[in-house]
Amino acid sequence: MLFPVLHTAADFLVITSIKAFKMVLADLGRKITSALRSLSNATIINEEVLNAMLKEVCTALLEADVNIKLVKQLRENVKSAIDLEEMASGLNKRKMIQHAVFKELVKLVDPGVKAWTPTKGKQNVIMFVGLQGSGKTTTCSKLAYYYQRKGWKTCLICADTFRAGAFDQLKQNATKARIPFYGSYTEMDPVIIASEGVDKFKNENFEIIIVDTSGRHKQEDSLFEEMLQVANAIQPDNIVYVMDASIGQACEAQAKAFKDKVDVASVIVTKLDGHAKGGGALSAVAATKSPIIFIGTGEHIDDFEPFKTQPFISKLLGMGDIEGLIDKVNELKLDDNEALIEKLKHGQFTLRDMYEQFQNIMKMGPFSQILGMIPGFGTDFMSKGNEQESMARLKKLMTIMDSMNDQELDSTDGAKVFSKQPGRIQRVARGSGVSTRDVQELLTQYTKFAQMVKKMGGIKGLFKGGDMSKNVSQSQMAKLNQQMAKMMDPRVLHHMGGMAGLQSMMRQFQQGAAGNMKGMMGFNNM
Ligand code: GDP
Ligand code: MG
Repeated sequence: MLFPVLHTAADFLVITSIKAFKMVLADLGRKITSALRSLSNATIINEEVLNAMLKEVCTALLEADVNIKLVKQLRENVKSAIDLEEMASGLNKRKMIQHAVFKELVKLVDPGVKAWTPTKGKQNVIMFVGLQGSGKTTTCSKLAYYYQRKGWKTCLICADTFRAGAFDQLKQNATKARIPFYGSYTEMDPVIIASEGVDKFKNENFEIIIVDTSGRHKQEDSLFEEMLQVANAIQPDNIVYVMDASIGQACEAQAKAFKDKVDVASVIVTKLDGHAKGGGALSAVAATKSPIIFIGTGEHIDDFEPFKTQPFISKLLGMGDIEGLIDKVNELKLDDNEALIEKLKHGQFTLRDMYEQFQNIMKMGPFSQILGMIPGFGTDFMSKGNEQESMARLKKLMTIMDSMNDQELDSTDGAKVFSKQPGRIQRVARGSGVSTRDVQELLTQYTKFAQMVKKMGGIKGLFKGGDMSKNVSQSQMAKLNQQMAKMMDPRVLHHMGGMAGLQSMMRQFQQGAAGNMKGMMGFNNM
């Protein structure tokens, strides 16, 4: 079921997320897409056109450091799947060729092994291993943060006694993200720390227990031995091998070396941001038959994405990660918010409601990631700076509302409560460390928003059947979105003109029309 303001949060998010999606291997994606597009431009599709297209695709893959043998294989597989003589209509040919290329690209990074996933309500112990500097400690925190946000009871253990400052690094990350942690400045035996930490957190019923270990060099037998001892002591449910993508094809040999020693069940590839060698890492790791479960795309705790082969390739080719987008929207559990819907029915919208809408938006994660999931938005649209500014603006608004009291937040005319007693504005400004103008600005925006809700609530039959989206016009929905977007970033509006289709697209997703979407893109069997 869809409801406008809730729905708006998602719409709004889509609109405001228009920024540079720091796309992994963006360059590769662009080149392959352009090669595929050459098919649509050709009037007749013959052997020559097919060969030229394949050559372009293969060159792009080689430039991204994919193994030459795999590239050759891909070319042969596509060619043998396509029989130009037998294909009838031109449209069909294009689709079939595109599909064959897509399928082969998926094969390239798909190890064909099902990835381990944690079990809710159980104590899942995850141990991290990998070379020094590969990004273990950073990635431990990212993974913990990821699960914590999803509502799992999550903690971190530092079993790296080898590197000086290792515990401080983990402690800092954990504290920042408010994740419980365990470690020691005095105990030198990583086996003891790991065991103690795991016991403690198991007793406290933690669901995701992540153990960071010290870095290993391939040659260092003693450290390898230590890794094995830690693994034997804590009996992890999953051993994650952390792999630095910048070493390209060398990934394969290294992943194998670790796999030979301990029971590596999954791989996380880090530093995929801005590295031409990314293609090498992804295809090399896949060849070791260890599924890649996440990828790291930056130093920040949010620069982290679950890895699923098909959506990854779709995204790479600018087709959007529709599956991921639907997941994100579903994660919000928007239908739970019965109380708000009840109020909206009566045309009411309080400051607290607005606050909760902002929270929903924040929960969906970085805008950049959301944007990357939308077909056609895999390219630069807004700079990283703009996203940060938008987020900062949203946070500032929430901080202001944090300084409001229940009466102010819960009034159906929040602005009136303030205008009656202007002293309140000063109090809130002081409490949140902003100017009174900032508070006034927020109230103005809120009033506009609330007025719009009121107008919509007044329309007869609006809530007929409980599904407002059917009864609200596009232009009304757009106005609500614009109002919300304005609160975050006035410049956003500038981009909205060209995006009229986006809202109806979101609606399609939510109504389960994703299949149609894929069909439209010419990849029916994705
Ligand atoms: P460890 O020795 O394996 O624990 O590695 P660290 O977690 O300490 O990371 C080593 C360096 O790599 C740090 O400077 C991190 O900020 C950086 N790093 C980790 N993951 C990523 C990533 O996905 N992208 C980028 N650009 N840097 C990363
Ligand atoms: Mg470390």
